[in-house]
Amino acid sequence: MNFKQLGINDDIINLLQKSGITKPTPIQEESIAIIKDGKDVIAEAQTGTGKTLAFLLPIIENISTTTNSIQALIISPTRELAIQITEEATKLKSAKDINILAAYGGKDVGSQIKKLQKNIHLVIATPGRLLDHIKRGTVDLSKLKTLVLDEADQMLFMGFKNEVETIINKAPKNHQTLCFSATMNSQVKKLAYRYMTDPTVISVTKEEVITLDNIKQFVVETTDRRKQDSLCSVLAEDNPFMAIIFCRTKRRADELEMGLSKRGIKCEKLHSDIPQAKRERIMKSFRKADIQYLIATDVASRGLDVSGVTHIYNYDIPETAEDYIHRIGRTGRAGEEGYTCMFIDPKNQKTLDEIERKIKFKIPRRELTL
Ligand code: ADP
Ligand code: MG
Repeated sequence: MNFKQLGINDDIINLLQKSGITKPTPIQEESIAIIKDGKDVIAEAQTGTGKTLAFLLPIIENISTTTNSIQALIISPTRELAIQITEEATKLKSAKDINILAAYGGKDVGSQIKKLQKNIHLVIATPGRLLDHIKRGTVDLSKLKTLVLDEADQMLFMGFKNEVETIINKAPKNHQTLCFSATMNSQVKKLAYRYMTDPTVISVTKEEVITLDNIKQFVVETTDRRKQDSLCSVLAEDNPFMAIIFCRTKRRADELEMGLSKRGIKCEKLHSDIPQAKRERIMKSFRKADIQYLIATDVASRGLDVSGVTHIYNYDIPETAEDYIHRIGRTGRAGEEGYTCMFIDPKNQKTLDEIERKIKFKIPRRELTL
């Protein structure tokens, strides 16, 4: 199956080709034509499988540039993800000149409103800022054809349920709804079914174990008190090219950043209290590999696609095996080798047992030499 068979036009195909995208991924193969047909879709596929283009391509195909109204809306749980989707959509503009508005918090609302007075076809937004625009009357969703909830499970997890429902209710009755997620729990499904008409469910989840094949996993047994020391020994031994260090909470990320900085280790942190402009700057320098260590919480990093991450450190153990897979799945992409190390306190033993049971792998222990 190629993009042409899925109903994508040659201009877009040629443009994709220039960035090395020649063959649709499985989730794209299964969803593009159905979405283009106007059907409601619930799609589940792991992080990094190309979900963004799976909905962007048919949406862009379906937008009429001669119509002066917002025809498609993509809602994302975080600003970072909204930025990433906007970048991907903007790249396609040279093949089809649609007008895009990115509406997320932290960005000047005035300039967004000014832009909205122009002819906008596609809005990419976070729930809060979008509601702001709806309340001000600056966004009119009455002509909306397609609504996308990206990372729908995360959106609910972050408590955006009411916001999302308010937004859905502003769209016309017969609009198309697309729900994309890495994991579909029953809560997401419930919400999805409430607002969708006879949705097609597409799930391309692979056996999770398979995807971890090219990632070398280790556990360091330590204690909460000794964790920073243990991490620093490991970092000194590994000297990773580009690493993400995951913490459980914002506060833990703050503390770790201070601790590492005191030891002269250059790092940046990413969580939801960091001002928008700064987050964008940090992501940019991390993507360019100007930053060696990025400290992050799950929420801030969800859905981000950064290539070239060589090492993932779980400074704090993730709550579930799914989270573990999400975190470490940021390395070892596209056939490259990845490396991950998790620091555990004795009281994490139960969670660790669960993770190992789920991934069907007893993670080897790593002894520290420093
Ligand atoms: P997801 O939303 O599923 O986590 P993304 O949409 O962020 O994944 O895509 C991950 C990466 O894969 C991006 O860098 C994207 O450009 C790339 N990509 C998407 N589709 C294809 C494709 N058909 N072939 C090659 N690379 C692709
Ligand atoms: Mg995505």
